[in-house]
Amino acid sequence: MNVAVPRETFPGERRVAIAPAAIPGLVKAGLGVFVETGAGTQAGFTDAAYTEKGATIVQDRADLFRMADIILQVRTPGANPEEGSRDIELLRPEHVLIGLTDPFTHPAISRRVAETGATLFSMELIPRITRAQSMDALSSMATLAGYRAVLLAATHLPKMFPMLMTAAGTITPARVFVIGVGVAGLMAIAQAKRLGAVVEAYDVRPAVREQVQSLGAKFVEMELDAKDSEDTGGYAKAMGEEFYRKQRELMARVVAANDVVITTAAIPGRKAPVLVTRDMVESMHPGSVVVDLAALTGGNCELTRPDEIVDHNGVTILGPTNVPSDLARDASQMYGKNITTLLLSMMKNGALDMNRDDEVVSGTMVTHGGHVVHPRIVECLE
Ligand code: NAD
Repeated sequence: MNVAVPRETFPGERRVAIAPAAIPGLVKAGLGVFVETGAGTQAGFTDAAYTEKGATIVQDRADLFRMADIILQVRTPGANPEEGSRDIELLRPEHVLIGLTDPFTHPAISRRVAETGATLFSMELIPRITRAQSMDALSSMATLAGYRAVLLAATHLPKMFPMLMTAAGTITPARVFVIGVGVAGLMAIAQAKRLGAVVEAYDVRPAVREQVQSLGAKFVEMELDAKDSEDTGGYAKAMGEEFYRKQRELMARVVAANDVVITTAAIPGRKAPVLVTRDMVESMHPGSVVVDLAALTGGNCELTRPDEIVDHNGVTILGPTNVPSDLARDASQMYGKNITTLLLSMMKNGALDMNRDDEVVSGTMVTHGGHVVHPRIVECLE
């Protein structure tokens, strides 16, 4: 069976589905690996680096799809609606396509993929269970985003992060407030601490308090009834507008007291809640920075504009929508490990065994046999 790795076509996407390091594992499982020329260039991997590990470089994209059984992508057509639609024409019923699909934003694209007969697996839908941790691309990418968000804040902030006592006086440490302490938020706290900032954090899920404290940051206590804030999968549930209004009111003084606010608060499959209002931004010191990692799903800050740098009365608001792509080399390495682990988990004696009794297979399979088969996406299409 042949695995194909096309060049990514989404504007600004620098990642590639696998780094060369992932190839030996695929070859060992009896798979041939074919990579479109230049696929790894923007992530720092030359064609030669792939061939050295046992892959074959293919010049033409249509040829690559023609020889493929399994196609590995960062962004399948759902996560690349414009450029990706051309790939849909190259899909055949025998194809198994694995990658990010943005399934809840673009469910109709899943239906178009289903019509080709191809099988589509969504990396966003990997269940958050221990066995699937090494397949969990959302966590890998969130780890990189949390780290990078702090560096973005540090380069835009007109002060240093660490405290310094020098002959020229004492520099106070930067104060950082992290809102939303999932994978990205925890990494942001750790990175801000490493740079010497004083860090506070808040999440609606009370279970997070200890994790925040174990990183040496302060958990911001708020008188909010957050008892039912977590679903059975460990994700935050959407709360009512009255909850968010009260949260904003209670957080206002914390936002005003910090130099940097990093927001990561997301509700899976929903628009992000607005937690930092215009008034709150106006209460911050000029020079302060907001990094809104929820920009792609509408933003946690009222003034965020996706992929723009907004200056509001001297406060800088950043809303990057594809932060992992800035760290394309490590992102591709980690994503490649995640995607090949999923693929190899389905390989039995050199063939693909898509056993839908396995919760990882059934949880991630979006299309099969000409139909959209994932219940949550079927629901979105109704
Ligand atoms: P996410 O990206 O969906 O959301 C980011 C954070 O925002 C979450 O912690 C959420 O609680 C928080 N949030 C939502 N609304 C908020 C609000 N109004 N105010 C403040 N914070 C708010 O989260 P994620 O990083 O994908 O992690 C989700 C959960 O999954 C966590 O419990 C995490 O520990 C868990 N997880 C488990 C595994 C595993 O077991 N394999 C792997 C990764 C993550």
